[in-house]
Amino acid sequence: MNDAPGWRRFTEWDARPLRNDQFARDDPEAGFATFSSPWDPSPSARLEGGRIVEIDGKPEAEFDILDTFIARHHLDPDVLQEAMAMDPAAVARMLVDINVSRDRLEHLARGMTPAKLVSVVATMSALEITFAYSKMRQRRTPGNQAHVTNAKDDPLQLAADSATAVALGFDEIETTMRVASNAWANALACTVGAAVGRGGVLFQCSIEEAEELRIGLAGLSSYAETVSVYGTEQAFVDGDDTPWSKTFLTAAYASRGIKARCTSGASSELLMGFHQRQSVLYLEARCLCLQRAMGVQGTQNGGIDGAPLTASMAGGLRELMAENLIAVWLGLECASGNDTRISESEIRVGAKITPYLLAGSDLVCSGFGSIRKYDNTFNASLFNGEEIEDYLVLQRDFEADGGLTPVTEEQVAAVRMRALTAIRAVFEELGLAEVSEARLLSVAVASGSRETESFTVGEVTRISYAIRDRGLTAVDVVQALARRGFIHEAENLLLMLRQRVSGDYLQTSAILRNGRVLSALNDPNDYHGPGSGYRMSEARWSEVREIRNIQTRDSVLANECRHDPTAAPWLVPQRIAAKGVDSHEVVIGVSPAFGIQINQTTAGHDLIDVLMALTQGVRDGGGKPRVVRIHHTADTSFLGLTAARLSGSGYGIGIQAKGTAVIHRADRAPHLNIELFSNTPVTSLEHYRAMGRNAALYASGEAPEPIVVPVDGQALGARYHVRVALLYAIETALVDPNAEPIELLLALGQEGRP
Ligand code: CA
Repeated sequence: MNDAPGWRRFTEWDARPLRNDQFARDDPEAGFATFSSPWDPSPSARLEGGRIVEIDGKPEAEFDILDTFIARHHLDPDVLQEAMAMDPAAVARMLVDINVSRDRLEHLARGMTPAKLVSVVATMSALEITFAYSKMRQRRTPGNQAHVTNAKDDPLQLAADSATAVALGFDEIETTMRVASNAWANALACTVGAAVGRGGVLFQCSIEEAEELRIGLAGLSSYAETVSVYGTEQAFVDGDDTPWSKTFLTAAYASRGIKARCTSGASSELLMGFHQRQSVLYLEARCLCLQRAMGVQGTQNGGIDGAPLTASMAGGLRELMAENLIAVWLGLECASGNDTRISESEIRVGAKITPYLLAGSDLVCSGFGSIRKYDNTFNASLFNGEEIEDYLVLQRDFEADGGLTPVTEEQVAAVRMRALTAIRAVFEELGLAEVSEARLLSVAVASGSRETESFTVGEVTRISYAIRDRGLTAVDVVQALARRGFIHEAENLLLMLRQRVSGDYLQTSAILRNGRVLSALNDPNDYHGPGSGYRMSEARWSEVREIRNIQTRDSVLANECRHDPTAAPWLVPQRIAAKGVDSHEVVIGVSPAFGIQINQTTAGHDLIDVLMALTQGVRDGGGKPRVVRIHHTADTSFLGLTAARLSGSGYGIGIQAKGTAVIHRADRAPHLNIELFSNTPVTSLEHYRAMGRNAALYASGEAPEPIVVPVDGQALGARYHVRVALLYAIETALVDPNAEPIELLLALGQEGRP
C-alpha cells in the first residue's frame, strides 16, 4: 500500500509536448521489434553449381518472390562465400575503420543476405553507425530536399514557395496535392518557381504512378521517388505489385531521363499489417537488397511514413540510422528519412537530425517542409517552415553543411515576386488564367495559405485539366517564359530538359550545382579520416554562418549609444573624490562608460533613471548619496569596493553601465560583496531603488532583507551574453589604471532630465 503523496512534477510533465508522443513496448509477435525478433532468420547462403539455392535458412523451394529476386539479382555468387563466412563484428569494425575502403565494403555487401547485413549493423552503437554512414555515403557534397505544397493547391503560392526553397539551397523539391485533379497545375507552378534563381533544382510531383509518369513525360518533373518497395511478399501482392513490376516502372522513369529512386522504410509493413512477426530492420534489409537488385540508383529510406511508429520503439532512432547505413553500404544514393515528423517534442526533433548533420547525407532530409506545417500536404515534416532558422543555426553550430543557405528578407522578397510575375506571365501566355495584382500581392507576403486571397480549388482544377487536355509540356513553358522576357528562367528550365536528354543526372546521387552534375561518379565520398572527405570551402562556410541578426561591436554600440550629442552632459565631473566623513554617506561608484558611451542597461532602462532610483533609494533609507566615476576598473566588485572605501559609512554601491550592480563594504574581500544584481536584464528600476535603500540601511547598522531579483528560468546567457561581452569590452577599453575616482555632479532638471 503506497500512501505517499504524489509529486506535482508529473502533472507538469504531462503538459509537455513530449506527452503527445506514443511509445510502444517490444512485442515481436505484433511486429514491434527493431533489430531482432525470434522470427528473424539466421544468416545463411548456399551455392550449388553457381546457383544460390538457400538464403537465410530457406531452401530455394520455399523462396518467396523477394527471396527469388534477391538470390537472382542482388547476391553475387563470386563474393557470397567470402562475405557470408565473415564474423559480423569484424565487418562492423571494417565499417568504422578509416583504413578499409568504401569499395572493399561495397564489394562485400554484394555477397551478403539481408540477415547477414542486419547481423553486422546490429553490433554497432548509434555513434558507430553515424560514423560508418559518414564514410559509406555516396556523394561527397551533402544536399537537401524540400516539400513545397499548400492546403489550397494554389499555383501562385507553389511558384513563390518553390523559388523560396531554391533560394534556401534545396537541391530537390517535391510537391503533392490536396486534390488529385490539381496535379498538372501543381507541377507546372513548381516547375516555374524552381526555375527562378540559381536553377538546376530537381523537381518531383508525387501522385499515382501512371499519372506521375505522364507528368514526367511532359517534362514537368525531373525525378521520381514514389516507387515503394516492401519487405514482405504479402505487402507487394496487396498492392498488385512484384519486385519485377516495380523494376519495370523504375526503368520506365529512368528511360525517359527522369532520375528514379525507390522508397522504403521501417514499419511500413507493420502499418500495412504484413510484418510476418519479423524485426523492422530485417524487413528493411530485404527492401534494400531488392532495390540494389532492381538497379535503381538510390533510395528514400529511413522510416518515411513508418518513422513515427519506429520512433515509438526502444532504439527506434538507432534503427532508422542503421537502415540508412545499409542503404549506402549497398551503394545506393540515400535521401535519408528525415521527413515525417516523428515527435511533438522539439528536443527529439533536434536530436533526430543531429547525427545526419554530422555525418552528412546525399539528401539530409527526404522532405524538409519548406512551407508552414499546416500547408504540408505530405503531413508535417521533421522540420518545417516554422523551424528553418533553427536548422540554419544547427548547421552553423556544428560547422556542418546541411545543404541550406541563410537568406535575407530582401532576397526572399525579390525571388517571390519574380516567381509570381513569371507564373502570371506563363498563365497568360498559355491562356490558362488571368492573375489580378491583388491575388499576386496577397501571395507575395503570405507565410502560408491561410493568409492568401488567391485561386479557389475549383479554379485550379480547371487550369490543371487544361494543361493535361491540351498536352502542354515544359517546352511550352520555356517558350512562354522567353516570350515574356523571363530569359534566365527559360534557360534554367531548358537546362533541366537538356539533362533529360544527356541523362548524366541518372548517375548515383546526382544533383546539379552551378549547372553541372555532381554525383558519386565525379564527386565521390572519399572520407578516410580527419582532413579528408567533404569540408566546407571558405566561401560556403561564409554563407552558412551568415544567419540573421548577428550582433557586432558596431551594432551593439549603435543600439546602446542612443546619445544626443547636442544634449548637455548630465554627469558633470567635479574634483578628485576624497574619502567621506559622514557616517550616513553611501557612495555610488559608476563605471568608465556609464552615461557616456553606454546610456542604458541591458534591461533597456535609461541610466539617468537608474541613477535616480539608486540615489532616491539611498535617501529613502536615511542615507546621503554621493556619485563618483571610477576609472581604474570596470569590474563590478572592484567598483563597489572602491565606492565603499570612499564612503563615510564604509558602504558603497558599484554599478556598470550595462546595469550590473553590487553593494559592498570597505573591509571585505573584493568578491565577497553584500548584495549583487547579476541578472541585469530582469532588474527593474524598483529593484535599483530598493538596493539604494538597503545600502543606506546597512550604513546605519541595520540588517535589511536582501533584494532578490526573481528570474523565470530564461536562458539569460543565450539572450544577453553577446551584448554583455561586447558592452563590457567597451567599458574595459576605457579603463585607465592610474586615474583617480572623480566626484560627479548630477546635472538633472526638475523632471530628472538634463
Ligand atoms: Ca521525399
